[in-house]
Amino acid sequence: MSVTSASRGPLNNKSNSNVSRSAKTARDVGARKTRRVAAELEEFLNVPVKPRRLESPLDCLIATLLSQNTNDRNSHRAWVTLRKRYPTWERVASAPTNSLAKAIEVGGLKNQKARRIKQILRGIKKQVGKYDLDKLKRKSDGEVLEYLTSMEGVGVKTAACVLVFSLGRDVFPVDTHIHRLCNRLGLVRTKNAEETFDAMQPLVPEGKAYSFHINLIRFGRSVCKAQNPLCGKCPLFDLCSFPVKEHFAQKTARTPTPERAGTDFMILHNLSVS
Ligand code: SF4
Repeated sequence: MSVTSASRGPLNNKSNSNVSRSAKTARDVGARKTRRVAAELEEFLNVPVKPRRLESPLDCLIATLLSQNTNDRNSHRAWVTLRKRYPTWERVASAPTNSLAKAIEVGGLKNQKARRIKQILRGIKKQVGKYDLDKLKRKSDGEVLEYLTSMEGVGVKTAACVLVFSLGRDVFPVDTHIHRLCNRLGLVRTKNAEETFDAMQPLVPEGKAYSFHINLIRFGRSVCKAQNPLCGKCPLFDLCSFPVKEHFAQKTARTPTPERAGTDFMILHNLSVS
């Protein structure tokens, strides 16, 4: 998503009267299907319990950056080591880049992430006068998205995670896995995660963005895997538009019933230092 479209925003635009009649019909159909899929997933995986919100948007932003291109366990280990070695953002900002990189190396891309974190902290200090993003608590979703994505290395997914996990907003973050699932299921027809983010916001039932986001991640890990989706065991089979689902259904008919991965570890649920 471009910053311009973020500010114009599907986030602020759930009832835009300018949409054409056919676009509105398509959106209504997509919204009905999305509601059914979200309800089926809650039936299959339960309604996820919301964790305690991360009070600090800056903590959430840095933790989400650490989670890029790695798994949740390693990014969590990187987070814990970072906060133990450098308990304040002042100390992170003044640490040598190579020492910072060493602290977060278990999460991968250590040099790039260390440089980016320092750069972001420098920018925040310059603009706000301190290492603090609490001012975002008083901004609209679109304004937060626009502000965060103006930072080097902060994309729409990262900004949306701050909106959900720190600010408690009803926004639906989209990573590459959720992009894949939304397209396989036929909720949208989009080329990348940013387009999916834009297209999905008006479709997700009000109040369900968090539940649908978490359950789709779990569902993608346990059933609708990237390479070998377990279509033969899928509770969404009848709703799904994936053109080769019959092929995968035959291939996976004998696969054991997948576990309901309700206890999957996710970094943004586990950000205390101890
Ligand atoms: S039918 Fe297959 S492709 Fe469709 S949602 Fe289920 S596992 Fe994924």
